Amino acid sequence: MTQTHVPVIAIHGGAGTISAATTSAEQAQAYHDALKNIVAAAQAMLLKGASALDAACLAVEMLEECPLFNAGHGAVFTHDETHELDAAVMDGATLAAGAIAGVCRIRRPVRAARAVLEDGAHVLLAGAGAETFARERGLEMVEPSFFSTEARRQQLYRVRGTGRVVTDHEGASMTAASPLDEDKKFGTVGAVALDMHGHLAAATSTGGMTNKRVGRIGDSPLIGAGTYADDRTAAVSCTGSGEMFIRVAAAYDVCARMAYGGATLEAATHAVVQQSLPAIGGSGGLIGVDRHGNLSLAFNSEGMYRGHARGNEAANTAIFAA
Ligand code: ASP
Repeated sequence: MTQTHVPVIAIHGGAGTISAATTSAEQAQAYHDALKNIVAAAQAMLLKGASALDAACLAVEMLEECPLFNAGHGAVFTHDETHELDAAVMDGATLAAGAIAGVCRIRRPVRAARAVLEDGAHVLLAGAGAETFARERGLEMVEPSFFSTEARRQQLYRVRGTGRVVTDHEGASMTAASPLDEDKKFGTVGAVALDMHGHLAAATSTGGMTNKRVGRIGDSPLIGAGTYADDRTAAVSCTGSGEMFIRVAAAYDVCARMAYGGATLEAATHAVVQQSLPAIGGSGGLIGVDRHGNLSLAFNSEGMYRGHARGNEAANTAIFAA
């Protein structure tokens, strides 16, 4: 097996607006530390020769387990004060994909998405059927309350009072303890990777959007909308107002612009994030890595939690625009 590629990993922890409250250096540091740690773990795997798929899944699993981010433990609430989690993974080498939607009992949703990919019979399983599948595969199951945090519950109460689903930047102001205002931020997590063998993969996981209607499914688990990977072009994971990402097939559009129009990754992500999405009121961002190892971490909101590392270089993390 040739090992000619310098591996690359990039992750995101959601996009959004700057907190109305003053963010202390310590608060920002907690996010930087979590992002760095997770990038470093996936980077170490890639440097040992692991596949992009394994590295992307590990990064997302770690993000799911971190309550700072809206996926797994710390996921947002639906209007009915329940959780409905979505996740997807895609292997750029084979175009194999797996996703789950609307689940509330699978501890690590990205593992279930990976199991769907490996099973191969279907691409997307939803609700009770997805949970039965995960149970059959021996994945860890939890009570729905496992995902709840008091901060997310208070966030629902504030947002529900406004009658809005938080897809725009008009939520109530609050005393946020995080750099991006928790009421005005999209909290999906995701990862994209290029491995030593030249293969790409993407993974995304989310609690969705605060105050969403029960049964609503966002872009994250939809292959081509929130998640896509193809070795011939790029691996992409999105975060933002899911409905608009679905309508422009955001992740696939980045790859299609590269494949059909010869666009660079940078030009393709710019067109989607700065033109196609804002044209229909879409807000958020995405991360992408192409087959040459070029990276794009693009967003049209004020900030996006993000981190990346190339080869054995130190991990880089950022929250606001450079
Ligand atoms: N895109 C996600 C969704 O619509 C939300 C997010 O990125 O936080 O479900």
